[in-house]
Amino acid sequence: MAKNRSQSESPTDTLTTSSQPNHSPADNVSAMSAADKALVMALQQFNAVADTIGLDDDTRRQLASCQRELIVHFPVRMDNGRLDLFTGFRVHHNTVKGPSKGGIRYHPAVTLDECRALAMWMTWKCSLMNLPYGGAKGGVIVDPKQLSLHELERLTRRYATEISPFIGPERDIPAPDVGTNAQIMAWMMDTYSMHKGYSIPAIITGKPVSIGGTAGREYATGLGVTYITRAVLKQRFGRSLDDIAVAIQGFGNVGSWTARTMHERGARVVAVSDVQGGIYNRRGLDLRQLGHHMDEHKTVVGFPGADPLTNQELLQLDVDVLVPAALEGQIHAENAAGIRAPIIAEGANGPTTPEADAILNDMGVTVIPDILCNAGGVVVSYFEWVQGLQSFFWDESEVRRSMEKTLLDNLDAVVGATVRYKCGLRTAAYTIAISRIVDATRLRGIYP
Ligand code: NAD
Repeated sequence: MAKNRSQSESPTDTLTTSSQPNHSPADNVSAMSAADKALVMALQQFNAVADTIGLDDDTRRQLASCQRELIVHFPVRMDNGRLDLFTGFRVHHNTVKGPSKGGIRYHPAVTLDECRALAMWMTWKCSLMNLPYGGAKGGVIVDPKQLSLHELERLTRRYATEISPFIGPERDIPAPDVGTNAQIMAWMMDTYSMHKGYSIPAIITGKPVSIGGTAGREYATGLGVTYITRAVLKQRFGRSLDDIAVAIQGFGNVGSWTARTMHERGARVVAVSDVQGGIYNRRGLDLRQLGHHMDEHKTVVGFPGADPLTNQELLQLDVDVLVPAALEGQIHAENAAGIRAPIIAEGANGPTTPEADAILNDMGVTVIPDILCNAGGVVVSYFEWVQGLQSFFWDESEVRRSMEKTLLDNLDAVVGATVRYKCGLRTAAYTIAISRIVDATRLRGIYP
């Protein structure tokens, strides 16, 4: 399966890329993949805020670049005896506030630029939440669904080994993202611990509770989306979640837990989708039955009692809340004008392009930005890390209460900034987050 190794990311290209700290994304944006466009988006968002706050050129160049980037090419023995070569990444965008934090993605379209963008968004998200972390992201170019469980374990352990000089409980703490889960975090924690000779649970978050994970991490991102959406509905529309119609793109960790926690609070989840397509029922989907269907078929497609629809149709449904919870760049200049939901709650990272953002803003759509809306995951990951370092564990109600307070306090700060700066939620959230990193950068100064 040497095809898993990206054509454009040969070791030679690696040197070229890594030796250009002030990376500017390619000019030919239209020829880029959605993953690579993520960096264009992240830099557009950053530069807009940098312009607004009058950021000096030196700090701007520093924060537009990633601090460290690791590319690894590694072999994995497949079940049939063949040796396949895989490519993986780990990027630290910024560590001015502390160790870097961010997920690990297993997906065929992962690129270095995508990891850079996701790492940058993590810096802003941790800053907005006032966590003592910088931002990181990693990934492997692989479709995990094509691997057996044993192949997935060998790939994970080898990738963990390759990036182990780059990570550590005081250095960089990975977590789950698209295509990875608690079991994969367990293998990574075990591999790192075996190398060191003793157990180090704080190396990673999103682990199973029985090996030092925290209560509440599995559903934290989705529950956080629900808490924030509920608060915005109340503040801006005077409504509760009761009988609110919701459509959710992506039915993995974030999408499925958003669906479940919104439904538990009275919402009608009328449409969900995954990479294979979507399903729709105007009266609301039976989520319990859908869970059984997912267990059996590994996709929402074909669920009885619902009509099929495409991912594009889902985005343009007449619903109260639209939750993109799949990949970046899904709401763009070509489909934004067709959005009918008055609220978009960004469960995914970077699901809305800056061009779409401008269109939605003109249309009066409330977009709850990713770094606020889906921050419940990293907030509870932070709680997990703290518990692991102290070997003292909290009960689930304490985790939920602390997460809700952290999210809602920061929502209040963002709403306050919309009034102060006369801007939307995204600009307000990014301005707070980036300004804090700028302040910290100035206070620490330039070494040496
Ligand atoms: P996941 O792998 O559990 O689920 C991803 C879902 O998206 C799957 O249902 C998949 O089929 C679907 N999908 C993939 N490509 C798609 C496409 N082109 N169109 C429609 N659906 C598609 O991943 P996840 O952990 O739920 O992450 C989803 C998003 O949320 C990502 O943007 C991730 O970065 C972000 N996020 C995740 C967490 C977390 O705690 N897992 C935290 C914050 C943000």
